[in-house]
Amino acid sequence: MVVLMRQRDRSERAARARGQVGRLAEAGVVAVAATFVDTAGITRVKGVPLGAFERAAGWGVGATPVFDAFGADDSIVDTPVANPAGDLRLLPDLDRLVALAGQPGWAWAPADRWTQDGEPHPGCSRLLARRMQDRLADSGYQALAAFEVEWVVYPEAEREAAEPVPGLPGPAYGMNRLIEGSDYAVELLRALAAQGVRVQQFHPEYAPGQLELSVAPEPPVASADTAVLVRATIRAVAARHGLAVSFAPCVQAGGVGNGGHLHISVSRDGHNLFSGGDRRFGLTAEAESFTGGVLHRLPALLAIGAPSVASYQRLLPSHWAGAYACWGLENREAALRLVTGSAGERADTANVELKCVDQSANPYLLVAAVLAAGLAGLEGHATLPEPVQLNPDSLSEQQRAELGVARLPTALAEAVDALATEPAFTDAFGPGLTETILAVRRAEIAGFADAGPEEIVAATRWRY
Ligand code: GLU
Ligand code: MG
Repeated sequence: MVVLMRQRDRSERAARARGQVGRLAEAGVVAVAATFVDTAGITRVKGVPLGAFERAAGWGVGATPVFDAFGADDSIVDTPVANPAGDLRLLPDLDRLVALAGQPGWAWAPADRWTQDGEPHPGCSRLLARRMQDRLADSGYQALAAFEVEWVVYPEAEREAAEPVPGLPGPAYGMNRLIEGSDYAVELLRALAAQGVRVQQFHPEYAPGQLELSVAPEPPVASADTAVLVRATIRAVAARHGLAVSFAPCVQAGGVGNGGHLHISVSRDGHNLFSGGDRRFGLTAEAESFTGGVLHRLPALLAIGAPSVASYQRLLPSHWAGAYACWGLENREAALRLVTGSAGERADTANVELKCVDQSANPYLLVAAVLAAGLAGLEGHATLPEPVQLNPDSLSEQQRAELGVARLPTALAEAVDALATEPAFTDAFGPGLTETILAVRRAEIAGFADAGPEEIVAATRWRY
């Protein structure tokens, strides 16, 4: 049944926005950036001056449905949604409206996409994620999720270079690198705190010029919103320091890439099902089923979570990217790493980390897909095989076969074929969105058909 947006809801939203506009104006805000993420994982935006925001909050901002057919390079893929006739409405989520500390004068809100007649747009990934979150709740479960953000910093001038050299030359996890980026990091952390983002950790990562930041868990839709906000803030503050940033899965062919790991836990009646259970490492049967549902669908999930051709230059063994379909306790080479936390805090902290995904993914589509897979696992009482407690790449083919550990797809085409025939995803997405996702992915594959690794990385580096 299609839920229509009622006239009263629109008036209430507009009235609420009126109050918020006053406060934002006092804080020096001039305009609101309303964002959504497209099929290819690019965050697209419409800006609304404060004077027009009340109306936009109630009745929406115009946006073409053709955005669903955009590739990461802005090409328009020939699909039914690429029809130039028609228009949608972006409805900013007033619960997330916030002044941007890293972009003085701007505020931000993530938007849902509705039709002009007040129906949810079937291609809106944020509404899809909300539906999956509600479906989980209808089954009696609540999920908490958090995206880890990794990025590489460059001096702005390197953007023009054929082979850009990252900034912050200090060693991986090194205090030297933190000192080199000290002022940038402090302004970034201050901006995120001012925007209500609860950062838990910040550190220099493994690759040259790479940094990482992790945030507190939230309900899934909120975690995807936060991923968008955090990346925008990282980029905006960097620009004020003469720095360019890349969140692309691979910024240098052969190097360690940027992951976009997703942590997720599920609770029932306020009890975290990833702790205090009678299964391995304290898992409950339900947490095992949820995780099993994800594990068994990883090849298809990669078409959502590792959706760019460049993703497969990151998703390599011995890169801590989780290139094998297996799970293990704190195993950084497993696609699913069980994280328990310390004794005494596990009821709060235990979760599973999906490592094989990166930030070319649309975070809303990704949380929707993970919830769909987890729900399918719960409904089918899925179980987990033996955990893997070493680098699966160090095993022989035969040992891996005995353990049931498979290499994940090594190219996007394999993942796309798996997605096309995975009912847990195609049913959740619906035929229109499924067809659009497949068409956009296949166009990206065709676009890079003759490209070598360096060319793919160069074409992707500054898109994310
Ligand atoms: N940069 C690695 C990746 O591509 C992850 C490193 C880590 O374990 O945090 O996923
Ligand atoms: Mg990391």
